[in-house]
Amino acid sequence: MTSAPVSVPALNTSRSQELFSAAQTLMPGGVSSPVRAFRSVDGDPIVFDRVKGAYAWDVDGNRYIDYIGSWGPAICGHAHPKVIGALRNALGKGTSFGAPCALENQLAEMVIDAVPSVEMVRFVNSGTEACMSVLRLMRAFTGREKLIKFEGCYHGHADMFLVKAGSGVATLGLPDSPGVPRSTTASTLTAPYNDLEAVKRLFAENPGEIAGVILEPVVGNAGFLPPEPGFLEGLREITAENGALLTFDEVMTGFRISYGGAQAKFGITPDLTTLGKVIGGGLPVGAYGGRAEIMAMVAPAGPMYQAGTLSGNPLAMTAGIHTLELLRQSGTYEKLEATTSRLLAGILAAGRDAGLPICGGSISAMFGFFLCDGPVRNFEQAKAADTKRFGKLHRAMLERGVYLAPSAFEAGFTSLAHTDEDIDITLEAFRDCFAAIA
Ligand SMILES: *Cc1c(COP(=O)(O)O)cnc(C)c1O
Repeated sequence: MTSAPVSVPALNTSRSQELFSAAQTLMPGGVSSPVRAFRSVDGDPIVFDRVKGAYAWDVDGNRYIDYIGSWGPAICGHAHPKVIGALRNALGKGTSFGAPCALENQLAEMVIDAVPSVEMVRFVNSGTEACMSVLRLMRAFTGREKLIKFEGCYHGHADMFLVKAGSGVATLGLPDSPGVPRSTTASTLTAPYNDLEAVKRLFAENPGEIAGVILEPVVGNAGFLPPEPGFLEGLREITAENGALLTFDEVMTGFRISYGGAQAKFGITPDLTTLGKVIGGGLPVGAYGGRAEIMAMVAPAGPMYQAGTLSGNPLAMTAGIHTLELLRQSGTYEKLEATTSRLLAGILAAGRDAGLPICGGSISAMFGFFLCDGPVRNFEQAKAADTKRFGKLHRAMLERGVYLAPSAFEAGFTSLAHTDEDIDITLEAFRDCFAAIA
């Protein structure tokens, strides 16, 4: 007792535990989405009561510095007063029209202005919906059926993508999901990330049959994996040469890697793009868009059917518009970059000081580290990371009031609300926790 260098009272999470055990009788695994259940870090999840800025408070009153940000949307900080204020005004006019509203034009213009590949856009309600729709569109436009995706990339839970689909699926140890017909995934071809030769081989083996290639231009669902120099350029060339379409799934990276997404950051323009997370500002929104000529295929302009009862609803559009307005102010991405790179450098230094194998990286407001020697170029190599040790680290960090993604294979997110002091506190916690698990 007396000799303890830092006295940290044990975290009381009794109310969380009560709620979670009740939840397990009500909902499968006690959750509405799998990775929230903390299975891969061997512990019970924390039940949140409210969020604000860089912080989340649980139902027992504990405060955490949050590095998930609702899995991406909270890039301006949770519950930003501008977004909440605009939502209150919008609420007064009703929650859903099921008819066109001017706010859709406004958000569409903002997305088209920001994202180089997007000339026209369709709003949907989630990233999953955006990705399943974009695949239908790639097939409709090319008249071909096959798709190339990369091992460890996640594109939502539609059948065709549940092949080597990264974090959520991987951490549960389900290589694929039961219930997905073989016939559905038969036309889904996979290649290791950062491996252009593998992609060339697939094109050579399936001449004239591949509709397109979809990828996370910076991977966040297999841990943080940046594209190697030449990889995105190479994909652009190979798809163009083969009459196939290139889709960047920017559900995570859109408006996060830069205002125009990873495509603006790396200067590579795909044919199609999917968006989600940030563009909904915390409400359920997804979008897909691209060249006008391709988007002209989408109903009712064209024959490819896709629809949505709540798509483009005024609340969701409002949260998106005001989030993007905050992001497009000057200095935003410089600030996010500075915060995140300081955090990541501190994490790596703390790990090394504790004698742990560690590697990692960050771009703008997205970061990640693996507890193994680097570099990690793809999901296969990521799987060498010490997940048991990560689980211990995760629990120890929670005890210190730092909320990290509950999986070794998820990127972390910072926000405009994270202050230097938050980073200092976080790094102190990392130093102590790394030492404790080394
Ligand atoms: C989160 C995510 C999705 C799925 O979005 P949901 O809104 O969860 O359906 C798709 N692609 C990527 C890259 C994602 O990170």
